[in-house]
Amino acid sequence: MTLKDTELSVKEKTTKPDVAKSDEEWRKQLSPEQYQVTRKAGTEPAFTGKYWKTKDDGTYACVCCGKPLFSSETKFDSGTGWPSFWQPLDQAAVATHEDSTYGMVRTEARCASCNAHLGHVFEDGPEPTGLRYCMNSAALDLKPEEKK
Ligand SMILES: [Zn+2]
Repeated sequence: MTLKDTELSVKEKTTKPDVAKSDEEWRKQLSPEQYQVTRKAGTEPAFTGKYWKTKDDGTYACVCCGKPLFSSETKFDSGTGWPSFWQPLDQAAVATHEDSTYGMVRTEARCASCNAHLGHVFEDGPEPTGLRYCMNSAALDLKPEEKK
């Protein structure tokens, strides 16, 4: 699947976020860093977030709405200092948009449920997708796998 296909299928399914809160509500719910990243499309400095080198098993959920976004099984060490994944849990859970801020055209990744900014998607990831979902730790909440 190419990035373009993903983009189209996601756009069709996610015209409106399921979780809509006011700016003030988000500000109350989130830490200042989480708020800056997810609601203001900020980027945490590399190698500072809490998940860039995490190897624990579990599911990474949206820090804003709790929607499961990525599995630890698709996390890889990209060397960038941000948690990186080669595929979301569900293509429909992560919406992508073209982002042309800072004089670059990049693909922005947002939570399809609440529109939280998560990070960017690049086409230099490992097989099988060739994609690199470069995420901010501040946008994610790792739910550890339950030990049976
Ligand atoms: Zn969300």
